[in-house]
Amino acid sequence: ATPTALMVGTGRSAKMGVLIKNGQALEEVNDVKTVVFDKTGTITAGKPVVTDVVGNQEKVLQVAASLEENSEHPLAAAVMAKVSEAKITYQKAKKFKNIEGKGVKAVVNNQKAFVGSDKLSNDYLLSDEMKKQMAKLQNDAKTVVLVGLNEKIIGLIAIQDTPKKTATEAITELRSRGLKTVMLTGDNQRVAQAIGRQVGIDQVIAGVLPNEKADHVKALQQSGKVAFVGDGINDAPALTVANVGIAMGSGTDIAIESGEIILIQNDLLGVVRALDIAKKTFNRIK
Ligand code: ADP
Ligand code: MG
Repeated sequence: ATPTALMVGTGRSAKMGVLIKNGQALEEVNDVKTVVFDKTGTITAGKPVVTDVVGNQEKVLQVAASLEENSEHPLAAAVMAKVSEAKITYQKAKKFKNIEGKGVKAVVNNQKAFVGSDKLSNDYLLSDEMKKQMAKLQNDAKTVVLVGLNEKIIGLIAIQDTPKKTATEAITELRSRGLKTVMLTGDNQRVAQAIGRQVGIDQVIAGVLPNEKADHVKALQQSGKVAFVGDGINDAPALTVANVGIAMGSGTDIAIESGEIILIQNDLLGVVRALDIAKKTFNRIK
């Protein structure tokens, strides 16, 4: 590629909110066979909101608040917003521990407590009734966190994070160009499938721990070049391993550093634009 052609390509894309850090990345976009997306903050808006509380609402939110007050996870922010809206007062937790990709644990009022996925619930009793309610909420595309206290699950908090306005359109466009689309998430299988259905994605890989994302990208590379689109700290290794790393402008610094293409407007249609620009740029030179 000539430098001039590359500059034209990257200049045009910048106007559309697609920042291309290097020409080689743009050239590789032409050979991509699979586009892999992170869920939270990439396919979804990343603004989760509490929609349902199962159990004694005050008690459940009280325990959850003591734990989530210490967490920087987007789900924690959703819980704290609900707690302040419902004017719930709560105690300070002790021995706070973040369990990455699973939730948080601490001691509240001298009792062991946790908030998080069922991956943390091993020692806690989950009734059949709770299991049923959980499945129902998850099928509605809601992330359900369990609240455990003193070896019992005292309640559930359902949290909704809706897909971005252009997510379905972007995925439809990519598929019509013959690309395979995949969603990779730490969230539960049911929730991931429900959101996957909403946006029409080809494949959903759920329950992935943060340190496993890059391995999934490597596995998908067996069938051709992969672009990975993400925003979080835990997306950085996958962004690096992918043939083309595409980061959200709203993402964490480390994600933006790891990506070769940045979507300034956080709009997934930027992926489609990058493809079109790559095609135009490199066709013209040939
Ligand atoms: P994602 O890949 O969707 O960004 P994470 O890997 O950050 O998800 O988290 C995976 C799951 O772990 C969440 O869906 C949630 O069930 C649980 N989890 C993680 N952190 C927290 C927290 N602070 N509070 C409640 N649940 C949490
Ligand atoms: Mg994310």
